[in-house]
Amino acid sequence: MNEKLIEFENVTMLYYDAEEEYEKNSAPALSNVDFSVEKGEFVAVLGHNGSGKSTLAKLCNAIYEPTSGTVRVKGIVADNDDKADEVRRIVGMVFQNPDNQIVATVVEDDVAFGPENLGVEPTEIRRRVDEALKAVNMYDHRHREPHKLSGGQKQRVAIAGVLAMQTECIVLDEPTAMLDPMGREEVMNTVHRMNKEMGITVVLITHFMDEAVKADRVVVMDSGRIVMQGKPREIFSRVEELRSHGLDVPQSTELCHILGRENSVLNVEECIEEISEMLGGAR
Ligand code: ADP
Ligand code: MG
Repeated sequence: MNEKLIEFENVTMLYYDAEEEYEKNSAPALSNVDFSVEKGEFVAVLGHNGSGKSTLAKLCNAIYEPTSGTVRVKGIVADNDDKADEVRRIVGMVFQNPDNQIVATVVEDDVAFGPENLGVEPTEIRRRVDEALKAVNMYDHRHREPHKLSGGQKQRVAIAGVLAMQTECIVLDEPTAMLDPMGREEVMNTVHRMNKEMGITVVLITHFMDEAVKADRVVVMDSGRIVMQGKPREIFSRVEELRSHGLDVPQSTELCHILGRENSVLNVEECIEEISEMLGGAR
C-alpha cells in the first residue's frame, strides 16, 4: 500500500473576486500544504469551520486549480479540462447537502447519471447501477423518488452514484452533517464497507470526532494549514492541542482524560475497560 493516489506539493489557494483583481480574503484558504493519500487508505480530515477542508476536497477532484503548488492525482495534474475529466474518473465527490446532489426523479436514474456522462454503454450501466445500489443497501428503493427518501438514504444514493462511476477514490465533504444519528450511522457503515470490502480509497472530511476514530490516519487543519497528522489513537491523545485548534475529542476519550487515565481511549468499550480497571485498582 505505497502507491500515492493523491499528492499535494506546497499547495496554496487564494480565492479571487469575479474580476480576479483582489483577493477576497487576506489570508489564503490553503497555505503551503503538503498532503498525500495512499491507495486503499482511509483518511479523515478534521478542522473547525473555515480551516480549509472543503478547499482541500475540491482540489482533490479538480473543481479548482491551486493558486500555486501542484496537485497530482495518479500523477495527473489537472491543468486543462481534459485532464480535469481524467481526475474526476479517479476521484469522486459526495457533498454535505443530499438535496443538492439529486439530478433525477427516480433513484436508479440518478445513479445512472454519472456513468451515462462517462459514455458507458447501456447494458454495463444497468449492471453498475444495480451493483452500486446493492452495495449501499438501496436496491429495494431503486424505483422510488429520491426526494421522498430520508437524508441518510439520499446520501447513500449519492455514494452509489460515485460507485457506479467506478472511481478508485471517494472524497466525502461532511456527508453526515445534515443527517440524524441513524442516517449518520448508515452512511458511515457504507463508507467503511466501501473501503474495506471494495478497496476504495476514502478521504472523509468531518467535524464529528467519533467519525475519525476508525480512520487509518487523521489530518487536522487550522487556518489553511495541516497542523496535526497521525493515527487516531495518537492524535486523540493530544487533547489540549486539539482544543487549541478548536476541536474536541470523542466523548469517551474526554471522560478518561478527565479521570486522569493515561491511556488514550477511542470508544465506549475501551472507556468501560479503563474505568473498570480504575475501580478495580481502587479496591
Ligand atoms: P472549511 O470547509 O474547513 O469550512 P473552506 O475550505 O470552505 O473551509 O474555507 C477556507 C477559507 O476560504 C475560509 O476563510 C472561507 O471563507 C474561504 N472561502 C471558501 N470558499 C470561498 C469562495 N468561493 N470565495 C471566497 N472565499 C472562500
Ligand atoms: Mg467545508
